[in-house]
Amino acid sequence: MRIVLKPGRESSLLRRHPWIFSGAIQRIEGQPAPGQTVDVFSAEGQFLARAAYSPHSQIRARVWTFDDEPVDAQFFRNRIRAALARRALLRIESSTNAYRLIHAESDGLPGLIVDRYADLLVLQSLTAGSEAWKPTLADLLLEETGLARLYERSDAEVRALEGLPPAAGPLRGPAPTALITIIEHGLRYLVDPAHGHKTGFYLDQRPNRARVRTLAEGREVLDGFCYTGGFTLNALAGGAASVISVDASADALALCRHHLALNRLPADRHTILEGNLFHVLRKFRDQGCQFDLIILDPPKFAPTSAQAERAARAYKDINLLAFKLLRPDGILVTFSCSGGIDAALFQKIVAAAALDAGVDAQIVEHLFQAADHPVSLAFPEGAYLKGLVCIKG
Ligand code: SAH
Repeated sequence: MRIVLKPGRESSLLRRHPWIFSGAIQRIEGQPAPGQTVDVFSAEGQFLARAAYSPHSQIRARVWTFDDEPVDAQFFRNRIRAALARRALLRIESSTNAYRLIHAESDGLPGLIVDRYADLLVLQSLTAGSEAWKPTLADLLLEETGLARLYERSDAEVRALEGLPPAAGPLRGPAPTALITIIEHGLRYLVDPAHGHKTGFYLDQRPNRARVRTLAEGREVLDGFCYTGGFTLNALAGGAASVISVDASADALALCRHHLALNRLPADRHTILEGNLFHVLRKFRDQGCQFDLIILDPPKFAPTSAQAERAARAYKDINLLAFKLLRPDGILVTFSCSGGIDAALFQKIVAAAALDAGVDAQIVEHLFQAADHPVSLAFPEGAYLKGLVCIKG
């Protein structure tokens, strides 16, 4: 089975970018099944890559390898080993027992995400290619980690673009019967792999949660979009005078409250507010509330660049309100995890928010996703989480 590209459309593959869009394809030889491995050739007949075919997606194939090597169980074993070796090199286990083992394209395994929560692996398969190899990958992951339980959370909406139905449940070993306790930088969290967001926890924010701990002492803090309280716990552990945690999800907030007790953090300095942050921020503004540290970690407003404009308005709105709610010398820690909004655009949006709020502010730090969510230099799309630490003048 082969894909032959249109003349001149091989340049991104020569730069080792792993996506082949439908518009770049001249013809397909044979009738590959979804997820089947195909050889990719230039119009001139040059071998370019070996890729997983995905008939339903605009990204018609995703590259497994740019070399002329077999794509088989041994190939996947090598890729998994390489990903595990990178995590070992980073000494991630010195700060946590919960981290990302496989970060899809950036670990040479398009469509595959694997997170580890203590002794449980959670797998997310997002493309036809990872789906076709799922049973093999599941076995290899257990063999290479020495663990016995693998749970699947392939219920992300993007699977529909690949023509795949949602799938969730135990893949290997029994399903977890209780929440999993993880430790991150000395704080304990409960993770619900079956019902939590993504695979259960926002592992990508680990270093940024730790950073917030060092900025919180004596400050009145607002944790916007708090989920189960990652930034909240760190602010309190860092000596915050008070923290208000806001989220729209009652389940997430219940865990947040629980996490305070679990970590013996002072509940008398903590307030939980269930609601829509867009409304809550306006209410605070109307009531004249002020804060010294505001964290904004919203969900993905723009999964792709098609939604960028609407998302930009939403980001600007919350950041503008946050600038208004900050006291002079107050700190804004603001994030975007939208693939459709890059770091430069996000900075422009935050700058426009400060301008419209009538405040001077400085960027003092750029924040990024955790090191166990690497970005292949050939695949800049892998850099999805960006954050700014700003000080209001
Ligand atoms: N900072 C968190 C992760 C935040 S994820 C951590 O470190 O763990 C984004 C959160 O935003 C989710 O918990 C989701 O429930 C919440 N959310 C989404 N839309 C919202 C809205 N309009 N108002 C308040 N919370 C919202």
